Parts: sequence; C-alpha cells; structure tokens
Amino acid sequence: MAQKGVLLHQETFSCSICLDLLKDPVTTACGHSYCRNCIKSFWDNEEKKMGIHSCPQCRKTFTPRPVLVKNTMLAALTTISVPEHGQKQ
Ligand SMILES: [Zn+2]
Ligand SMILES: [Zn+2]
Repeated sequence: MAQKGVLLHQETFSCSICLDLLKDPVTTACGHSYCRNCIKSFWDNEEKKMGIHSCPQCRKTFTPRPVLVKNTMLAALTTISVPEHGQKQ
C-alpha cells in the first residue's frame, strides 16, 4: 500500500476571516466554512452597520441570520493530533 500521505492543504481548512486554521468550524448555507467566533463577530458587525449577514467569501446574503451548523467533518480534520493507525487484527 502506498504511504499514507494525506496532505492537508491549509488553505482548504483555513478560515478566510482570521486566515488561521478553522476553530470550531461552522458552515454557512452557501457551503463556506469559518470559525464560529469569526463569522459570529463578522455578522454582528454587518448587522449593526447594514442590517444584513453575508458570506465574506461569496457575498451571498442571508436574511434572517442563519443558524450556524457545526461542520463535523472539518472539526475532525482540524483537530487531528495523533496519526491514525488503522489497526486490524
Ligand atoms: Zn477564523
Ligand atoms: Zn459563501
């Protein structure tokens, strides 16, 4: 079997607001992912300024403010700390 070489492209798993690895990742209705805190404060801001909520990446607007859904797959990927061994006996 080929060596396990899962290259995590950091960009894919980064939040476009803080440019860091996703923390507590949530996904918007348009399919973009952000840290829960980042998108929350982003929307808090927008709400105050313009009364809208939009995706910082694709500019899709959401009204009313959507419920953020945790992205469990990304959450698992961004919290990998030990390599899997996949033991089979
Ligand atoms: Zn972030
Ligand atoms: Zn989007």
